[in-house]
Amino acid sequence: MRATRACIHLGRLKSNITAIRSRVGAGTAICVPIKADAYGHGAVRVAVAAIRAGASHLAVASVQEGVELRESGIVAPVLLLSLPLPEELPDIVAHRMTPLIADGEFARAVADAAEAAGERTAVHLKIDTGMCRIGCRPEEAASLARLVAGMDSLIIEGTSTHLAVADSLAPDDLAFTKTQIARFSDALLSIRQAGVDPGIAHAANSGGVALHPDSRFDMVRPGLLVYGYQPVDDDPDPLPVAPVMEFDTRIVFLKMVRRGESVSYGRAWTADRDTLIATLPVGYADGLARSLSGRLNALIGDRLYPVVGRICMDQCMVDLGPESEVRRWDRAVLFGPDPRGPSAADLARVLGTIPYEITCGINRRVPRVYVD
Ligand SMILES: *Cc1c(COP(=O)(O)O)cnc(C)c1O
Repeated sequence: MRATRACIHLGRLKSNITAIRSRVGAGTAICVPIKADAYGHGAVRVAVAAIRAGASHLAVASVQEGVELRESGIVAPVLLLSLPLPEELPDIVAHRMTPLIADGEFARAVADAAEAAGERTAVHLKIDTGMCRIGCRPEEAASLARLVAGMDSLIIEGTSTHLAVADSLAPDDLAFTKTQIARFSDALLSIRQAGVDPGIAHAANSGGVALHPDSRFDMVRPGLLVYGYQPVDDDPDPLPVAPVMEFDTRIVFLKMVRRGESVSYGRAWTADRDTLIATLPVGYADGLARSLSGRLNALIGDRLYPVVGRICMDQCMVDLGPESEVRRWDRAVLFGPDPRGPSAADLARVLGTIPYEITCGINRRVPRVYVD
């Protein structure tokens, strides 16, 4: 196998879910978002591990992602978090995915597709309480619920909303989340008053789980926490989760570079002393962003060494210093759970992004290796 790999620690994924379980209590169901190939960790293996760890629902973004789960034999409910095109509806029905319903026109289309297949399709109503992405307005929730409840081929299994700033401790953001939760509660009440059972109510992403107990309702949908990252900066009471993905490679070449010689494209780095340079077979096509050039350290043995010169498509170079015990074929960690080395959250900080984009960005050509 290739030297460069993403090691996925499924045991840690399970203990992260256990940590979430102890935070939300036994009475709250857990839905694990496994969109984007489980944030880059591999959808099918993560889905199986998540269900074994006690998740009752899975969530994907595209119909194709849902089909992949069904074709691998997974029977758990699969929520479709993004809205599909009408031509995708037959696949949704055939593979028993659970779409979100935010308007009457789309409800009709799903109902027709279900009826055409002779099926009844479970759906979740989606209410927009302040994210302004998808959902009906809270004041329209009761009439939408009544409409959907009247469609014989649809079953309302749940009702949901999504929180925009649940991961923030800023007073304005805490207040906004409270407003979203109140709007959602009011919408649920109006649905019940219209004589319709809203089913499983759910709102909380990882930020909600971490900071807002009143956002839990019947089910939570934490993604980031399951993969082992803190949603909240400087959380005074962080959940005990650890990163599931470790991205590493091995040294495939070593050479002495002389003082004054430059390394890699653009000659952006020049040795100021004779030094040992290691070549790693990992580059931006694997997901090691080129803009990390000169701003990243690799963990080799128990020490950090700087990545020097430009990161290439498939390779990059590390400065080991004039005297080094490091040997050819040694392992180099680019990010992972080891506190001595960089984490995906560290890389995200350097790049001005969030850890989601780091793990999702690890390319498909990088083999995922699963360990317990
Ligand atoms: C991705 C997503 C989540 C999970 O968000 P995290 O921040 O990873 O916890 C929850 N709900 C919806 C609708 C999502 O799209």
